Amino acid sequence: MNYLRRRLSDSTFISNLPNGYMTDLQRPEQAQPPPPASTTPAKKPQTSQSTGAGFFSSITNVVKQTAASAGLVEQTQVTTPKKFKILLVIDEPQQEWAKLFRGKKVHGDYDIKVEQAEFNEINVVAQANGTCNVNMQVLRNGTKVMRSFKPDFVLIRQHAFSMTQNEDFRNLIIGLQYGGVQTINSLESIYNLCDKPWDNNNDLKLGAEKFPLIEQTFYPNYKEMVSMPSFPVVVKIGHAHSGIGKVKVDNHSKFQDIASVVALTQTYTTTEPLIDSKYDIRIQKIGTDYKAYMRTSISGNWKTNTGSAMLEQVAMTDRYKLWVDTCAEIFGGLAICAVKAIHGKDGRDYITEVVGSSMPLVGEHQAEDRQLIADMVLAEMNQSAEKEANTPQRPTTIQPSQGAGQKGEIVGEPTKNGAGRPPQGCLQYILDCNGVAVGPKPVQAN
Ligand code: ATP
Repeated sequence: MNYLRRRLSDSTFISNLPNGYMTDLQRPEQAQPPPPASTTPAKKPQTSQSTGAGFFSSITNVVKQTAASAGLVEQTQVTTPKKFKILLVIDEPQQEWAKLFRGKKVHGDYDIKVEQAEFNEINVVAQANGTCNVNMQVLRNGTKVMRSFKPDFVLIRQHAFSMTQNEDFRNLIIGLQYGGVQTINSLESIYNLCDKPWDNNNDLKLGAEKFPLIEQTFYPNYKEMVSMPSFPVVVKIGHAHSGIGKVKVDNHSKFQDIASVVALTQTYTTTEPLIDSKYDIRIQKIGTDYKAYMRTSISGNWKTNTGSAMLEQVAMTDRYKLWVDTCAEIFGGLAICAVKAIHGKDGRDYITEVVGSSMPLVGEHQAEDRQLIADMVLAEMNQSAEKEANTPQRPTTIQPSQGAGQKGEIVGEPTKNGAGRPPQGCLQYILDCNGVAVGPKPVQAN
């Protein structure tokens, strides 16, 4: 190999080659068109020449690389202006986000391609240089489809963490943060809100009158559950949603029973006084839009989110606005959030929790709220694109590489060190029932 390298450093060697020898080396390489964003094949059809070349083709490739590094062969630089931005929405399939972005442009120029999946359908591979590749395996019309893409923006509408089985996706939040992906509500705030006691921030200057946070005790594990709260209390075990892990405890012996259950969970617990509740309050903020709701139990369950309940929109007061604005500020400026509180029969309010961008939408204005979120995402994407446009960037180079486009391989752009960068567009594979890619399929434009 070193011999070849030395020979190739000698420019007369190439020019003296007889006709037909390493013809592809002598010929300037054809510019390869950038892979079409949505239809990049997972597997290129192999010509009989390339499959049969074997040993000789690999020598030719080494020769080509060496010649290229010696500056003997012209390398074609192709700039690939990407004409769309990829928005990843993490939400359940029933919520169709793509239609809210149809026909919308970012920076007047870029279409928006919406990729939607649930947390359990994606994986993230990120690199320290700020690239982030999302691999997604979803079931669409009975067909298992796999895509790989680099998201420009992410909207997270599902809880990233719950202690119920298989619902811990904090690793994906870390991956997105590592890959420097833009989001609405920062990834930092999404991570911080993954543990409910983390949001029960007492460092408030407003005082209990203006910001009536519920009294709460935190136990890091069951062993500490010996100091007695005054009963009745609500014991909240770990971090879960939809009323899961919340138990009403009336006396000392029941508290001990619950502590013995907590011993199996390896998690923390909080206790709060049981409020003799009239209704629950929920104040939501989507950008500059504020709405307040009250929820009253119909079935009589002390948890109004369990059994049947009545939801009514109520007037947004300055007091409510202060609560939600304060919480948004505490977490570094949340664009989307909701504050939950309980209004007691004693006429007092008790703030219990803050929820971030994963807050479920409620009431009759859900379609409007979804549109508000979409508008905010669009505004943020525009801002990012503007920043990007004002930052000088090096042209992207595509160099044909050996074996690109082989089965299961992501066709990407080589980086400086030669490693394949994730593609700008999408790859879509059809998978058989065992999850094996059986062929490429064009990605449908949203
Ligand atoms: P979601 O996922 O719906 O937000 P969750 O799992 O976070 O629910 P909580 O909101 O903490 O659970 O509690 C569920 C319900 O239990 C509340 O909506 C409220 O009606 C009731 N509840 C919670 N804490 C108390 C309390 N300290 N006193 C009285 N009722 C309470």
